[in-house]
Amino acid sequence: MIIGTPKEIKNQEFRVGLIPAGVKSFVNAGHQVLIETNAGQGSGFPDEEYVEAGATIVDSAREVFERADMIIKVKEPQEVEYRMLREGQVLFTYLHLAPDPAQTKGLLESGCIAIAYETITDRDGRLPLLGPMSEVAGRMSVQVGAHYLQATKGGLGMLLGGVPGVEPAEVMVLGGGIVGLNATKMAIGLGAQVTIFERSVDRMRYLDDIFGARITCLMSNEYNISKRLEQTDLVIGGVLIPGANAPKLITKYQIENHMKPGSVIVDVAVDQGGCIETTRPTTHDDPVFTVGRTTQYCVANMPGAVPRTSTFALTNVTLPYALRLANQGVDEAIRRDEHLRAGVNVYKGKLTYEAVAEDQDLEF
Ligand code: NAD
Repeated sequence: MIIGTPKEIKNQEFRVGLIPAGVKSFVNAGHQVLIETNAGQGSGFPDEEYVEAGATIVDSAREVFERADMIIKVKEPQEVEYRMLREGQVLFTYLHLAPDPAQTKGLLESGCIAIAYETITDRDGRLPLLGPMSEVAGRMSVQVGAHYLQATKGGLGMLLGGVPGVEPAEVMVLGGGIVGLNATKMAIGLGAQVTIFERSVDRMRYLDDIFGARITCLMSNEYNISKRLEQTDLVIGGVLIPGANAPKLITKYQIENHMKPGSVIVDVAVDQGGCIETTRPTTHDDPVFTVGRTTQYCVANMPGAVPRTSTFALTNVTLPYALRLANQGVDEAIRRDEHLRAGVNVYKGKLTYEAVAEDQDLEF
């Protein structure tokens, strides 16, 4: 099979769908790989590394789309990209089709087979190709929070870990899932005091097993959160109710009246509407705004700021599926594996993902 990876063209996207190690795996399995020139530049992979791994560098995305049987990308195809897709060609990438009728129409018209990273499932019903980005965002949220706690950034002017003889910062983590767990690891690593608010008792038991007395884990309810807010320096929002908007756990009134001046909120859950009443999406160019005297950070694509780590983390989990698609052929691979089949959103002109069909009132 010919595998092709173009350079990402979405604004501020520096990740790449395939790294040199992945190229080597495809080449060793007898496939050919085309990489658009400079596709890996934003993640620190020069063309020469791809060539060393056995790829052919081509001058344009058009050439990649024309020659490849399977396109491996990161972000959903932009209009100029989905217009280049053809009948039977495989597209393997994040799609996020539900809120994007124009892309859905474009993919249907192309006749391609579009497999979305974000709807592939695992045996436990989780979404294994989404997890790594939550790990990145969760870990990054503490770095970002520490940055905005500095007085030079309008913050309280405190170190998360304090120093001997000086109290550390109090971190409130809302939601103890992947984001929350990774934020907690970083925060306690830096010496902060962490309280996680969760709703699932099973998850709280798990968090207690791994963190023990190093953290406090409390039932997430209005009373407990409200009581803890006045002593909190940094809030990290990481709740998720799959398929629904995040519940608002902290109100504007509470921020303005109960939070310390110079405290910081990082709402990672912003892509699901956020778990703070005042949340609105921001960008890496203009990441924060103030509410009362609190700084709020709500960047919707946090992993984009650390493309090298994010590219490795993403391709670590996507490559095994991509190899299976190439080695077995797409039809056989999706026939054999129901979890990979769950990723197929569009198949040769037919919409094959029910939630997207429902959202857009299309035939399924
Ligand atoms: P997850 O499913 O692993 O964890 C969510 C946790 O929230 C679960 O443990 C759940 O029990 C808990 N929860 C649900 N309702 C709650 C409530 N009322 N109070 C407290 N906890 C509650 O999800 P995740 O992978 O950690 O992702 C969290 C959010 O971060 C998602 O919206 C995800 O899309 C988002 N995210 C954003 C970025 C970004 O760049 N901003 C990157 C990655 C993920």
